[in-house]
Amino acid sequence: YDIAELKRLDLAHHLPAQADYKLLEDIGGSRIITRAEGSTIYDGEGHSLLDGMAGLWCVNVGYGRDELARAAYEQMLELPYYNTFFKTVTPPPVRLATKIAEKMSVGNPDLQHVFFNSSGSEANDTVLRLVRYYWQLKAEPDRNIIISRRNAYHGSTVAGMSLGGMTFMHAQGGPMVPGIEHVRQPYAFNEGFGEDPATFTQACVDDIEARILSVGPDKVAAFIGEPVQGAGGVIIPPEGYWPKVEALCRKYGILLICDEVICGFGRLGQWFGHQHYGIKPDVIAMAKGLSSGYLPISAVGVSSKIVDVLKTGGDFVHGYTYSGHPAAAAVALANIEIIEREGLVERTRNDTGPYLAKALKRLDAHPLVGEARSLGLIGAVEIVAEKGTNHRFGGKEGTAGPLVRDLCIKNGLMVRGIRDSIVMCPPLIITHEEIDRIVDIIEQSLNEAEPKLRA
Ligand code: PLP
Repeated sequence: YDIAELKRLDLAHHLPAQADYKLLEDIGGSRIITRAEGSTIYDGEGHSLLDGMAGLWCVNVGYGRDELARAAYEQMLELPYYNTFFKTVTPPPVRLATKIAEKMSVGNPDLQHVFFNSSGSEANDTVLRLVRYYWQLKAEPDRNIIISRRNAYHGSTVAGMSLGGMTFMHAQGGPMVPGIEHVRQPYAFNEGFGEDPATFTQACVDDIEARILSVGPDKVAAFIGEPVQGAGGVIIPPEGYWPKVEALCRKYGILLICDEVICGFGRLGQWFGHQHYGIKPDVIAMAKGLSSGYLPISAVGVSSKIVDVLKTGGDFVHGYTYSGHPAAAAVALANIEIIEREGLVERTRNDTGPYLAKALKRLDAHPLVGEARSLGLIGAVEIVAEKGTNHRFGGKEGTAGPLVRDLCIKNGLMVRGIRDSIVMCPPLIITHEEIDRIVDIIEQSLNEAEPKLRA
């Protein structure tokens, strides 16, 4: 590749997602990633990086899987595309829906149906229309409020960002979709520091109940949340949180939606994150790990209770050109086969997940580390100014994460910096040696950051 030319053309014509276009110009353009293998990515300038983010929380089976390329190739030769609008369907989405139903109905036998889309954001658009339409068909059209959490991320479409609770996203390109309420997030390190976990959990749940009561229980359609918030900063709720939220939903007859876009397909050591918490959502959104990012595909899992109601409404006038795309579905099926064959869910639960948790414990001794937490193969390191507190660097709040992230990248590790934390989400094929390397590089980068942060 002519990297200099690619950078020049990128700046001239391409607008990358979620980017500061002026900053990209100032730094001479984006890093050009040219290939990847296993858990390692390579740029066109001779650098290799251990991919501590599995791409963007998605490459669960790692890079370089011929099998997935072949699945796409063979399906494209046979039938590259056909739609599901004309009472038509192709074989791969049927098989994929069946496979997803098998996985998501474990412990939740009512979760049997699947609606396909191409991205996590689209999946959440589907979720929003679906649950509101459900209540319309049930002759309760006023039940249209969705309760979400502050700092949640549910995508970047208008519906996705409105469902999400990131105020800096709401501030750009609004107005938002109306009827979405944001409540407290179970972020113990930031919002319940030093509090008894049970008391903190109850306070979060009480906040949801107070909002249900203030908007009116008969106006609330659904509660949505990620089992573990990813982009919010890998917020792992206290163990009692989800069962209490589920009980609240049942108490007021509110639908429970889990956004499994990050947590699905093994990330928390179960096929779906909600299975770790033993709850039974009515609707789930999934994407990313569904195809390990090899082709864009997402899905919404829907319970029979809801589908029975949809059957009373005639056409559900919703869906996309690429809903049930045969090549994407064929790749997703082959991806799930790899996860099954290599036991990646069990390995995450019993081996690599606990290994990551143990490796991160080493960082507890570091003077900048307030907390190092993980569940399965997703984790975060909180950076603080004063050991034993959650105090950030005064005047530099929000900068420690990006600073340490940049140092990690320089040192050969791709991670993300979210405010004053570093987050990681490696491929599920990550080895012990690679986990050790992730932790070593974070430690080294914290050491290098410390004088800069204390200056
Ligand atoms: N939901 C969650 C929890 C996500 O993390 C993301 C993306 O990071 C989305 C939805 C949106 O998915 P996409 O970027 O595929 O639209």
